[in-house]
Amino acid sequence: MSLGAYSYIKGIVAATWTGIKHFFRPRMTLRYPEQKLDLEGPGYRFDAKQGVGLPGFKGRHILYMDKCTGCQLCAIACDGVAVAIEMQHIKKGKPQNKKEIWPAVDYGRCVFCGLCVDACPFDALYMTNDYELAAYDKMSLKYTPEMLAVPPKIQGQTTKVKIDTERGVVKHE
Ligand code: SF4
Ligand code: SF4
Repeated sequence: MSLGAYSYIKGIVAATWTGIKHFFRPRMTLRYPEQKLDLEGPGYRFDAKQGVGLPGFKGRHILYMDKCTGCQLCAIACDGVAVAIEMQHIKKGKPQNKKEIWPAVDYGRCVFCGLCVDACPFDALYMTNDYELAAYDKMSLKYTPEMLAVPPKIQGQTTKVKIDTERGVVKHE
């Protein structure tokens, strides 16, 4: 048998064997939107007292208006990254926020780095597990402070899945 024919047959056998092995493994591709990631934990947070980030998914932010002082540190942090945060004036009558300015996030610019969360000294800005941010126009990607204050809802979820961090596969429940 020539060397070329040997390599050819060897390639077919290796490809077939790989296919057989994967036939019995759980599927990694999700049938979105019927199947969605069931991400564990509340999302990325920062412990300002200890100065450490708490692991979690970096999805859409959540703003706690009862804690935000309007200090703008989140916007200043983002200015060096993506200029995605704009402070907006909204009357809410919250005693801790005398200027009544709150962060708004443009997800057309945000790179989900989490630096704004790290910069907030008042635990007022976290990230959530919400990754469903696709929109048909750029304006829909601009989240006002009031939109950020609403906890995300996962809609149309029919199948929960989890990531097996050891094997790197998605397990269907
Ligand atoms: S996560 Fe987004 S909004 Fe926050 S600093 Fe990074 S780019 Fe800016
Ligand atoms: S979210 Fe935090 S850093 Fe941003 S303005 Fe409010 S208190 Fe300041």
